[in-house]
Amino acid sequence: MAQGKIVKVAGSLIVAEGMSSARMFDVVRVSRHRLIGEILELRGDRASIQVYEETSGLGPGEPVESTGAPLSLELGPGLIESIFDGIQRPLDRIREQAGDRIARGIELPALDRERVWDFTPVAQPGDAVEAGDVLGTVQENALIEHRIMVPPGLSGTVRTIARGAHKVTDVIAVLEAGDGQEHGLSMLQRWPMRIGRPYREKLSPQMPMVTGQRVIDTFFPIASGGVAAIPGPFGSGKTVVQHQLAKWADADIIVYVGCGERGNEMTDVLQEFPRLHDPKTGQSLMKRTVLIANTSDMPVAAREASIYTGITIAEYFRDMGYRVAIMADSTSRWAEALREMSGRLEEMPGEEGYPAYLSSRIAEFYERAGQVVCLGSEGRKGAISAIGAVSPPGGDISEPVSQATLRIVKVFWGLSAQLAYRRHFPAIDWLLSYSLYLDNLSDWFTDHVSPEWNALRLKAMTVLQEESELEEIVRLVGMDALSWKDRLTMEVARSVREDFLHQNAFDEVDTYTSLEKQYRMLRLILDYADKGQAALDAGANLSDVIGMPVRERIGRAKYIPEDSLIYFDEIESELAAQTSALINRGGL
Ligand code: ADP
Repeated sequence: MAQGKIVKVAGSLIVAEGMSSARMFDVVRVSRHRLIGEILELRGDRASIQVYEETSGLGPGEPVESTGAPLSLELGPGLIESIFDGIQRPLDRIREQAGDRIARGIELPALDRERVWDFTPVAQPGDAVEAGDVLGTVQENALIEHRIMVPPGLSGTVRTIARGAHKVTDVIAVLEAGDGQEHGLSMLQRWPMRIGRPYREKLSPQMPMVTGQRVIDTFFPIASGGVAAIPGPFGSGKTVVQHQLAKWADADIIVYVGCGERGNEMTDVLQEFPRLHDPKTGQSLMKRTVLIANTSDMPVAAREASIYTGITIAEYFRDMGYRVAIMADSTSRWAEALREMSGRLEEMPGEEGYPAYLSSRIAEFYERAGQVVCLGSEGRKGAISAIGAVSPPGGDISEPVSQATLRIVKVFWGLSAQLAYRRHFPAIDWLLSYSLYLDNLSDWFTDHVSPEWNALRLKAMTVLQEESELEEIVRLVGMDALSWKDRLTMEVARSVREDFLHQNAFDEVDTYTSLEKQYRMLRLILDYADKGQAALDAGANLSDVIGMPVRERIGRAKYIPEDSLIYFDEIESELAAQTSALINRGGL
């Protein structure tokens, strides 16, 4: 193990000599306080070390000791409901012990060593098992069954297996490997955070991650295992969108990585998230959530590490066969931490001071998402969907972090400050946003929702695009220049916006819409468009078409509860009857 001495301290970066036997990315303990650090650069016997804790008072001559291992996470029962910092220190338990500020050099393991879990074996003595096979299960809480798996790289025959009450570090199974060597396995695995966990095969996206948010599911769907970015101009409703996704998205486990902007913002998340109510279970959303939090008083390096901590935990649950959604908020703050560290290492700066490897680091993060066939003989499937918020300064997405993100992600939900100002929520701009999964998912929607789905979606989108062109004309020459057909188009577009896209997160019914109901709502609006046009063609008056009484019911259709979709039939009949009446009157 390398034992060196500090020669220089520059903020959270220190340089130590005598480190020739250490390796890149080894974790080191710095000074008599034993602060946690990571080797970022090695030149001869000189190591540049990023320290993850406050370095004030440190000086040359103090000892630096390499642990000989890279920054690794503890994976096992106890992750769910935890709040960790960027290097997986358990903030909630530290707070209990040491108060609000993290005491320096505090050595509290990520997973509680004293807590006892009830282990139920799945494998039997004599079973041949391979990496990824489930040895047994632990009910982490009422919702989450934690599957204890053979760690990557190991296979053999189960010699003994435990049952009942055990701590995470107890040996729960003895495995005899091919070479005859015996391995005692506990419920705890360690994994180096900067390396993706292995899987058997990556699958192309096959189904959507349904969110119940109409503008997302219908217009800009994200695949299960997909990657999306969402920019967040201040006050544009970013937090509400993220909370809605966390609550409603079709995922078993939520990992939320927060890199705070202002000092108190992360504290908001820490307080808000545990208060969120999980609509699917009626309990706190924390029961299926892992929170990674960085407050601004923590060193930048911990912020840089936090997205690796988040994605590694997400991968671990994916390996169990779960669908995981990870939200990183915001990746811009993460990139700034990267820039700051690169600056201290005196690396050659690229665009706007970011290091040249910014894009590849962003890509590495998103590439760890996806739908996979997990390790193990069972052939389980698991998925990670990743949603990264970006917060470009001044909302200008031409800056490097936004650009690098947009090159990687397949979905872009463009939040618009203007829409938010007009109180159109969610303020996802339909003209700016996109989803590259549409082609992949169109068969799924056809098979599972309706053969008409894709056509309806396209038609609604076309109406919205036409509206923006017509608005331009109206601005230039006034409403009178528009034909009745165009005016009907404007009216239908308004209905798509107000009756369909606008969705109130705080209304009990409107907050979530099933795909079936989304389909019925859209079909109704577009049915009105067709029937209205038919009435105009038959000589009806535009004002009568626009003023059809049934339109009020179309506007309120979003409040029809999921168990009463039968009302849509009624509204459709009413629409047909009122159209016939108009046509008959027109024909007289
Ligand atoms: P940001 O995080 O971007 O600063 P918030 O998510 O806090 O913005 O949203 C600001 C306000 O906008 C909220 O307090 C809420 O009143 C309103 N809002 C945002 N999204 C919705 C929504 N889907 N439904 C209703 N109101 C919303």
